Amino acid sequence: MHIETKCLHEGYKPGNGEPKALPIYQSTTYTYDSTEHIGQLFDLSADGHMYSRISNPTVAAVEQKIAALEGGVGALCTTSGQAASLLAVLNICTAGDHFVAASTIYGGTVNLFAVTLKKFGIECTFVDADAQEEEIEKAFRPNTKALFGETIANPAIAVLDLEKFARTAHRNGVPFLVDNTFATPVLCRPIEWGADIVVHSTTKYMDGHAIQVGGVIVDSGNFNWENGKFGELCTPDESYHGVTYTRDFGRAAYITKARVQLMRDFGMYPSAQDAFLLNLGLETLAVRMERYCRNAEQAAAFLARQPEVEFVNYPALSGSPYAAAAKKYLPDGCSGVISFSIRGGREVAVKFMDSLSLANKVVHVADICTCVLHPASSTHRQLTDEQLVAAGITPGLIRLSVGLEHIDDILDDLKKGFAAIR
Ligand SMILES: *Cc1c(COP(=O)(O)O)cnc(C)c1O
Repeated sequence: MHIETKCLHEGYKPGNGEPKALPIYQSTTYTYDSTEHIGQLFDLSADGHMYSRISNPTVAAVEQKIAALEGGVGALCTTSGQAASLLAVLNICTAGDHFVAASTIYGGTVNLFAVTLKKFGIECTFVDADAQEEEIEKAFRPNTKALFGETIANPAIAVLDLEKFARTAHRNGVPFLVDNTFATPVLCRPIEWGADIVVHSTTKYMDGHAIQVGGVIVDSGNFNWENGKFGELCTPDESYHGVTYTRDFGRAAYITKARVQLMRDFGMYPSAQDAFLLNLGLETLAVRMERYCRNAEQAAAFLARQPEVEFVNYPALSGSPYAAAAKKYLPDGCSGVISFSIRGGREVAVKFMDSLSLANKVVHVADICTCVLHPASSTHRQLTDEQLVAAGITPGLIRLSVGLEHIDDILDDLKKGFAAIR
């Protein structure tokens, strides 16, 4: 099946006489005929749902759909993108461990990795994703457990060299984790380029309608955990009656551990209602991504022609430092997210933003409607000036998330902004 078809037909597959739409199983618990069966569920030797903190049939259908879209062996939904990144790392790192991440990743993830995980005793070194492999490799230590990057970095709109990151990670015996939120599996499937674990904030394009915060972790099933570095996956889990994830679950070891151990303990599992809504977004994802890309290409070209614009970050623009990477990894388009810097800095950028009327001024991105944001005064205000520069953010940087409106209406709105600062 092609990706458009998978968006509609993967996951829930109704049988004879069953509802056409994905049912919302609004139940915390599941009944069984015998205590023996429940015992088997607890031993993970029988399939089935136990309790909706760990799994639920509506959420499971969405997990299967996303796993199919990304080409993974399994997926685990979470209540936010932040929760997905947190669990993805905690599933392989414990106190005393270290991992490496690209400095251009989403500001919230930088804070999670640099500040909060540090309090857990897990250290992260940030590297310039565009650096040579040997340079990135210098950040690796004997206790390094992962390499993390973003396919299209938010908001620098830098395209990650996925193959380079995969090679660097694998040469050091660690998995390559990638946040694929902006690209979505419609535009890029990082597993095909060597990624081992894919995370998403489903809050963005996957949902698309600004109605529910969520996340997901997808396991490629390709990483060999039995290389001496990942004892937790390969030795009996005493908190789970001695289950050994690699022995008992094979290629699904990582995602099974994330669910039955971490999700059991942290309890950040989405509701059936949220999963139902996410599924609606996923059904139209392929169609929407196509329009976002076409609109954004025109908006980026328009912005690049304006004298008030210092620079435009959009990988599909010829002259973008990421044009070659975009051509390779994002041949069908680079999503609807553009960032550009207005000359004159913070005040002028704010004046420009406040003169727009169609674009929503929201702390959101990747929505059906066009939206704008000034990262330096909002999402990234917790970052130091140094971190801002490392994340590719200038005081005048505006993030424009091009929506599904008619392109002429989007351009007319931008013209209002330029008229106000001229
Ligand atoms: C928004 C976002 C996140 C965090 O996701 P939430 O759903 O808001 O928790 C992570 N990564 C990227 C790239 C994002 O855009």
